[in-house]
Amino acid sequence: MARKPLIAGNWKMNLNHLEAIALVQKIAFSLPEKYYAKVDVAVLPPFTDIRSIQTLVDGDKLLLTYGAQDLSPHDSGAYTGDVSGPMLAKLGCSYVTVGHSERREYHHEDDELVNKKVKAAIKHGIKPILCVGEQQEVRDSGAHLGHCTSQLLAGLKGLKAEQVAEHVVVAYEPVWAIGTGKVATPADAEEVCKALRGALAEKYGTEVAEAVRVLYGGSVKSGNVAELVACENIDGGLVGGASLQADEFTKLCALAA
Ligand code: PEP
Repeated sequence: MARKPLIAGNWKMNLNHLEAIALVQKIAFSLPEKYYAKVDVAVLPPFTDIRSIQTLVDGDKLLLTYGAQDLSPHDSGAYTGDVSGPMLAKLGCSYVTVGHSERREYHHEDDELVNKKVKAAIKHGIKPILCVGEQQEVRDSGAHLGHCTSQLLAGLKGLKAEQVAEHVVVAYEPVWAIGTGKVATPADAEEVCKALRGALAEKYGTEVAEAVRVLYGGSVKSGNVAELVACENIDGGLVGGASLQADEFTKLCALAA
């Protein structure tokens, strides 16, 4: 099955709403509409930028989509500082990253919480981009495939096959490659992405596994995106640093198309 690639720009905790508007305008201006037939493009800004981006996307009927970097497992209530699935859905978010390694590390998010967040996203019609990936020491020990497939299956626990096929995006992000400039070789990235798809096939069947997009993330830029997306099991990229510069991000999206 041919899967349409997705390039999702994870802005992390960068850009205020004015800077966000400027960046989205530049991307919209420099990526011709014809590319969107071949690649889905999303930006994942901080919560404070989402309303401004929604206004721009809706007002100018942009083909670019957007989402958030996290959500609460709860719909509402006494959870100070959290933002819920219904709130993000109301703002038109298409995607939300869940289980990013920075949340796992700095906010101590475990697989159980990640699983609840994946379910919360799906419940409100937002596609979770479920991030998995190993630390350097896990790779050095040779346990990376087991580590990543176990994070994947734990994150999807309790979901029906059709929910996985319809809503879930997986992102393989080796922790040692995030923000370090150390990109995984296409062969290393493909090995893990293939194993992730294999785990999906074993659990949910081949049809589901073939429908799910598996992205690679970790120092993706215009100089390496083409060889990564050329791999059979890599369906796009989750892009951090390179998503903050309009020219670089646009070039990268065009090369992934
Ligand atoms: C990320 O934030 O998910 C990421 C992959 O960052 P970078 O592209 O900067 O390595």
